[in-house]
Amino acid sequence: MAQPKLPNILREERTSVSKTIRIKDIITVGDLAKKLDIPPAQLISELIKNGVMATVNEKIDFDTAQIVSGEIFEDITLEKEEADAVGNFEARQKREVSADAKERPPIVAVMGHVDHGKTSLLDAIREEDVAEGEAGGITQHISAYQISYKDRKLTFLDTPGHEAFAALREHGAQLTDVAVIVVAADDGIKPQTKEAIRFARRAGVKIVVAANKMDKATSDINKLKQQLHDEKLSPEEWGGDTVVVEVSAKTKKGVSDLLDMILLVADVEELKADYDVPAQGIIIEAHMDRGKGAVATALVEHGLLKTGNYIAAGPAYAKIRTMTSTDGKKIEEAGPSMPVVLTGFKSLPRFGDTFSAHQNDKKAKQVASDAEEARGRSGANQELTSTDLIAMINKNRDQQAFNVLVRADVQGSLKSVIDSMRTLEHQEVTPRIVGQGVGSVSENDVRLAQSSGAVIYGFNVSVPASVKRMASQEGVTIQLYSVIYELIDDVKESLSTLLSDEIVDTDLGRLVVKAVFRTTKSAIICGGEVTKGKITPNTVAIIETSDGEKVEAVIEKVQRGQQEAKEVVVGDMCGLQIKTDKKIALEEGDRVNVIKREVVSRSI
Ligand code: GDP
Repeated sequence: MAQPKLPNILREERTSVSKTIRIKDIITVGDLAKKLDIPPAQLISELIKNGVMATVNEKIDFDTAQIVSGEIFEDITLEKEEADAVGNFEARQKREVSADAKERPPIVAVMGHVDHGKTSLLDAIREEDVAEGEAGGITQHISAYQISYKDRKLTFLDTPGHEAFAALREHGAQLTDVAVIVVAADDGIKPQTKEAIRFARRAGVKIVVAANKMDKATSDINKLKQQLHDEKLSPEEWGGDTVVVEVSAKTKKGVSDLLDMILLVADVEELKADYDVPAQGIIIEAHMDRGKGAVATALVEHGLLKTGNYIAAGPAYAKIRTMTSTDGKKIEEAGPSMPVVLTGFKSLPRFGDTFSAHQNDKKAKQVASDAEEARGRSGANQELTSTDLIAMINKNRDQQAFNVLVRADVQGSLKSVIDSMRTLEHQEVTPRIVGQGVGSVSENDVRLAQSSGAVIYGFNVSVPASVKRMASQEGVTIQLYSVIYELIDDVKESLSTLLSDEIVDTDLGRLVVKAVFRTTKSAIICGGEVTKGKITPNTVAIIETSDGEKVEAVIEKVQRGQQEAKEVVVGDMCGLQIKTDKKIALEEGDRVNVIKREVVSRSI
């Protein structure tokens, strides 16, 4: 994260306002500018004055925010919003509903460490769907689906990454009601499990733990419960209030219990929505389809969305041409908590955009164009201004960049990949995204990658044969993934190879010289007692001469008696053959400190 140098206080330029704003520990430059009600460029230039090179989407910490805000406004106070502390979760902002509001299905996000069975569990849950048998063509990538279970409905979101979950939250959509954290009971809590717990907590949603892979003999539910307890998610059986359900996505055992528990937890929340209001919701996925044009998956939050409705989704306008459920059935209307696939957009909406239905196309177009204008003003669109570019160029002067071009199947995963890549920034090396897009890898991508020396990373996308051929001719690397973490790990590894190696010295031992047998310009043979640690051959001797100078030399051979030894330890009398590049006057009583010197490759 960017840290400020000493503030450069330009008091005479400050504007006098008296106000207090509340921000979190970490805030993006764009969001802070919005809160301060100033153009992002002004904030960026103030940051640059303070030695912080940050673009509109980059995050700065509270202290940095405080310093720069104080330099722009004379009388401003920043207060920290506490959000993360356990037991002090941010309250979920619930939309006010009318007295006519009716029950709505819960929206459930499934998260967890890679390979713990998230996908298998989502598949197993879908099999519990009573309506599944009559389903039409199932789409290949499903970011959300709804099932019918015991006369109730439940909506599941498959979060492509936790970042996407956070992004949904950032956009003000307090969407998710319950987070199912999948943990393989044979593997226990892993870093991404912790991350998922943190995200769910931040969002203030109820957590249900699915202890998966219970069919495996190596599964240890008690150990997992202990780990959950340590994470302040004490199971109900232990007197806590976390629901832990033992399941096996493989044998399907426990899956219906899990659904029962999700419904039970959701019922406590009394989830309601208005049905008799203009439809509103959020875009959770969008991509261009060759035949259908812009296709978006939307989650309805309130009202009934109907085919033929005029809607504005962020700056995109649509008259809904077709509406299908996420299992491919054509439908005419969709109510609260229902995910639907929409066509009819004139441009591609973005992941996280909110949508609203309007009485006529004029009104919808107006709302869309207002959103576009507001976006331009706030700088929320990701296009870079010249100030951003200057900031980036300055930044890149000191950093080695690893150029990447990212392709993903849908906007949600593209955002996840890019957000995750941004977290890999390091003082010395950083991924630089030279291109990004939704859909298959194209010939243009290969040309751009070739000219900028970039590697193409594809997430859930294909590469047409002609593009593959072109890439191999041009020497462009294309790497494909279906798991975000694997992609990010590989980028991390590539970045690490760009980091220069580090020399690491470790103290090994000490020798007090008892006798010096021979001293030449290039070697010393001496004897002594090991008074600390141990001494081995091929290590570095640091010899302090009588005039206080420290000289380094190499211990070539270690002897105990007449025998060459691999190591001598405290208390041993030994002989050393030391190689030097200048004559060192070593004397009886001198100390020789010995260190092990290694060249260690660093990683991000
Ligand atoms: P994800 O990365 O979390 O989506 O995990 P997957 O659903 O892809 O599962 C990872 C691996 O674990 C796959 O090989 C699955 O077959 C296996 N797996 C998932 N659930 C279970 C389970 O309940 N029992 C067993 N034995 N294997 C499982």
